[in-house]
Amino acid sequence: MATVKKIATELNLEFDKQKVYGTYQEFTYTLFQNISYANSQDNFKILYIPMEKITDEVVGRVDQFISDHKKELRIFKYTVGKDLLTLRLNEGFKGINSEMFKEIYTKIINYLLTLDVQPKKTCVYCQEENPDTTIYINNIKLPAHEHCKQEAMLKNEALRKEKESQKNGLNPLLGTILGAFIGVIPYAIAVWFGWYVGILTFLTGYAAYKGFMMFGGNTIKSTKFMVSVVALVMIILSNFGIIEMLAIINNVPFRTVLYSDVISSIFFEMLGMSLLFGVLGISAVFVKIKKDEYSTVIE
Ligand SMILES: [Zn+2]
Repeated sequence: MATVKKIATELNLEFDKQKVYGTYQEFTYTLFQNISYANSQDNFKILYIPMEKITDEVVGRVDQFISDHKKELRIFKYTVGKDLLTLRLNEGFKGINSEMFKEIYTKIINYLLTLDVQPKKTCVYCQEENPDTTIYINNIKLPAHEHCKQEAMLKNEALRKEKESQKNGLNPLLGTILGAFIGVIPYAIAVWFGWYVGILTFLTGYAAYKGFMMFGGNTIKSTKFMVSVVALVMIILSNFGIIEMLAIINNVPFRTVLYSDVISSIFFEMLGMSLLFGVLGISAVFVKIKKDEYSTVIE
């Protein structure tokens, strides 16, 4: 997989972390590399091409063009908005190199030009002409007026503060606990039947967050902490719970089961493995939680 950094270097484009910004025929595009260490399906490149507002008819034609050339343009998924093209690229077996990337954006932008589509040249906030700066909204580089930008950033900050100040009641916590409990059941069942697969705790964090959402949770900074703690405690409890169940069934003390030859040799390994996969699963959910924290990221 060619990195976006390599693409930026080879095509001599502006590069910032996982983002590449370039201009072709006055269209400023953004190439964004989404990275997930936990889920390889979440590793993909997205190409954004902002435009001046287009009509429904033009939307339809652009849609048709991309749909017809999906394969050669290596587009996996796409949306044609009225002022933004969002194209998720298909990395395929060899990945996308700078040459292919260049071909993709030139072909699309050249087609836009045949339809008389204009590059985004007006302020993203007030839609007036002569923007004097650029702004990065959810990674996309867009033109703006300095005063509009300042105003938007203040508003965004106020919204963020307001969201942070909304406290979560008891229900989301109960939802998180319930979610984590349900999430850990497959693991507990597997272990109960002698199938020691720690990987099954990978989904506990996800289930915990799902429970949080279903019980009306408002995703704020502390949500990550809450989901992590609840999921990990639940994983630990499930391991001890199984021992306790064995003790009850065999009518012997907890310690007797824990220190028996069979259990003592695998218990701490299982505890460790289940926690390890639990942590990996939680880090995967963090990506989603972070996205839910604020809907708009302005830089
Ligand atoms: Zn403006």
